[in-house]
Amino acid sequence: MRGFQDRMEVSRFQALVRERVPVPECGPAWVEQVPLEACAGRILAEPVRAAVNVPAFVRSSMDGYALRSEETFGAGPYNPLKFRVIGEVTPGRQFAGTVGPGEAVRIMTGAPLPDGADAVLIAENAREAGGVMEATDAVPPGKNTGRIAEDIRQGDTVLAAGRCLRPQDVGVLASIGTATVRVRRQPRVTLLITGNELLEPGQMPHGAMIVDSNSLMLEALVRRDGGAIGQTLHLPDDRGRIGDALVHAPGDVLVMTGGTSVGVEDHGPVLIAELGALLVHGVAMRPSAPTGFGWVANRPVFLLPGNPVSCLAAYDFFVGLAVRRMGGRPDAWPYRQTRLPLRDRITSQIGRVDYARVRIESGAAVLIATSGASVLSSTTQADGFVVVPQDSEGYAAGATVDIWLYD
Ligand code: AMP
Ligand code: MG
Repeated sequence: MRGFQDRMEVSRFQALVRERVPVPECGPAWVEQVPLEACAGRILAEPVRAAVNVPAFVRSSMDGYALRSEETFGAGPYNPLKFRVIGEVTPGRQFAGTVGPGEAVRIMTGAPLPDGADAVLIAENAREAGGVMEATDAVPPGKNTGRIAEDIRQGDTVLAAGRCLRPQDVGVLASIGTATVRVRRQPRVTLLITGNELLEPGQMPHGAMIVDSNSLMLEALVRRDGGAIGQTLHLPDDRGRIGDALVHAPGDVLVMTGGTSVGVEDHGPVLIAELGALLVHGVAMRPSAPTGFGWVANRPVFLLPGNPVSCLAAYDFFVGLAVRRMGGRPDAWPYRQTRLPLRDRITSQIGRVDYARVRIESGAAVLIATSGASVLSSTTQADGFVVVPQDSEGYAAGATVDIWLYD
């Protein structure tokens, strides 16, 4: 067994990931066309311009009567003015005639304003009987109508490149007649889950065998960060099989868990060094010290510790950053932050980053006592985590700290 030579600072490791994993240019390899119904949450690869005005016609914004506004001047409850109702127009139809002097057309919200009319009198200010409508209010020109292009003007850029498409963006894209959208391709992440002791999820643990917690957790994290899972391979601690997967498994990024430390069964770091380049092995962080990063077969490979808490933290500190960058998403963590006083103190060591799980209880952050890297339920009991920076010895009880919230 070999010890760690020296542990890389977390911030240096993150800077290295940024340097080695640039945000891809929107070339053919990283752009795909998807149908509109599949584009929510994806990253727009190029700006979208409107080919049409929305609306393309003057529309009524209320139910009422389309008429010539100048003819309503002076109308009031004590001075009702009479109009002849010459027809009706509902959304999706065009009124065939023209509204002439003394005439009105019954109109519904969203219907095009008939020719000749320039305003809509709302139904509440009108009484109709026997084909005659009495207006009890005056309307200025344009009243209760929506002008052409009030929503979107033809030629305008509706959404900028790089936009993570919101549900309402999809609605706007539909409104301008879009059928397909060019978005960034999702980076494909392949997981190599190694360990002789592991059973696949869905099985019952028995004897000395444990069930793999990491693969499904990582798959969900990758999806959260806009990545797609290429493959999830479960492998024994077998040099040959792991080496083969490192070189031949598909994917833009490989993430290996288990066997990343300096024990006799820990093939990951040695293989990466032999097959490519091992850029990082050992990080000044607790948990997650046995994390690594390298390059094999022209793509990044991350080595994550098998201990599930370490695996989660190492993903969030390093892998997520790479996945989000490859997909054109922000570097920043997708966690909200809050600031609360600590109930207990958190101790750390200068020179090391600590990932401390906390629960929020009556307005204070409470450190989760069972904080071993193998105790994954510490992260399910927690509401969030505190990152103690490298140059800090920790925080005193009562100190106000930043908390990253899991939800
Ligand atoms: P390793 O990183 O292989 O040294 O494993 C460290 C610890 O994490 C050991 O107790 C392993 O049994 C455990 N472990 C490794 N992989 C997994 C996994 N996928 N799910 C849960 N525990 C794991
Ligand atoms: Mg192992």
